[in-house]
Amino acid sequence: MKLYNTLTRSLDVFNPADPSNVKIYTCGPTVYDYAHIGNLTAYVYWDLLVRLLRSSHFQVNRVLNLTDVGHLTSDADDGEDKLEKGARREGKTVWEIAEHYAGSFLKDYQALELIPPTKICKATDYIQQGIALVQRLTEQGYTYETTDGIYFDTAKFPRYAELARLDLDHLRAGARVEFSSEKHNPADFALWKFVREGEDHAMQWDYLGRPGYPGWHLECSTIIHEELGEPIDIHAGGIDHIPVHHTNEVAQSEAAFDQTLAHFWLHCNFITIEGEKISKSLGNIYTLADLAKQGFSPLDFKLWVLQGHYQSERNFSFTDLAAAKQRRLNWRNRLATLTQQDSPTPATPDFCDQLLKLVSDNLNSAEGFSFIDNSTLSYPDWEFVDQLFGLGLIDSIIPPSAHAEQLIKERSAARDAKDYSRADQLRAELEKEGITVLDTPSGPIWQYL
Ligand code: AMP
Ligand code: ZN
Repeated sequence: MKLYNTLTRSLDVFNPADPSNVKIYTCGPTVYDYAHIGNLTAYVYWDLLVRLLRSSHFQVNRVLNLTDVGHLTSDADDGEDKLEKGARREGKTVWEIAEHYAGSFLKDYQALELIPPTKICKATDYIQQGIALVQRLTEQGYTYETTDGIYFDTAKFPRYAELARLDLDHLRAGARVEFSSEKHNPADFALWKFVREGEDHAMQWDYLGRPGYPGWHLECSTIIHEELGEPIDIHAGGIDHIPVHHTNEVAQSEAAFDQTLAHFWLHCNFITIEGEKISKSLGNIYTLADLAKQGFSPLDFKLWVLQGHYQSERNFSFTDLAAAKQRRLNWRNRLATLTQQDSPTPATPDFCDQLLKLVSDNLNSAEGFSFIDNSTLSYPDWEFVDQLFGLGLIDSIIPPSAHAEQLIKERSAARDAKDYSRADQLRAELEKEGITVLDTPSGPIWQYL
């Protein structure tokens, strides 16, 4: 299996240290609003990663975090706290906001038939362990205190620029004009923030004898250390995480524990919608519920995601979603046909091995899908397709009701009697049940509409 590793900027062969314990960490959502389809694409891509590893006989140990503690809306260490913002918007407490939107995220997760992570960790359950990490970094001389928090001194960590290939001199030169905070270097970041006098911050914990809350990168380093242990095999997230969030995770973890944090870093690209950035002002923040209103199931959307590649910038359109839905319907009907045949046509030899090989080339599901379109599959082949992509094809094959079966028989009899108007009438009735009939040399076959 080959994966594109951001760390080396190349396609590298994936060989985990222990095939029976492949350690994966995927950065999770901040639970302050409903997930839009852009947010959800990442989890579909990482589900393919997990399924591919499982189909290749690896055992996956995956941790996903839920950011239920407010972090700041910008990559800088100031700006508005997302959970506080959600709480104000809805007149609720930050705890209520976190609980509601975590629940809604997990519902989306299930609706997309994504394999549950081995463990889901809430950031608020790891505050004390996070404090211990800050303490450890302080004892090792990596931190300094300012009036508003404890900062990581990036100058003390020479590999800081490595993952993102940052040009720190450039950053320093650019920052000179506005660089007036107490930070020693522009890239230094908060490990811990103090609640300032008069500041209204609902979530706060005691550290150093005063109230405060964690900086937003801390939870990932902490949870990885507690639940998986460094080094992990794969760390995944969005491309926007490379220059700040993941760079800071590496600095915190590797400085504290003197171990590589992750061997592989996978980053997925962004989607635009009908050519536009996803934004409130354009009113295009679609959720799964919005897609359902237009007649698309979560699995139609999942198929659309998997038609593309995680590293490509993608453009979502309802026309393309309709094409994805049609492809899924076509596959369901091929499967439905198979369940009605007495003697199926011979399947493609080594179909599963060939499919696995295609997708093992850096999660190339698009090539895999073309191969499915152009091959004859047996029932076990379709079972493998479902295992690899989680498209719920087999479970969606519900045979026609007894009433529909009766209509199919009556229609055949009407055709045999050359009563074509009656046959057409019966076809129309069947279509009301979402079923249509194909007349084949070996008799009628029902299909989904
Ligand atoms: P946000 O809630 O907007 O901060 O987004 C949370 C995460 O979702 C970001 O860090 C991105 O990795 C991902 N994300 C946001 N917008 C998109 C998009 N249009 N396409 C893909 N991923 C996105
Ligand atoms: Zn993270």
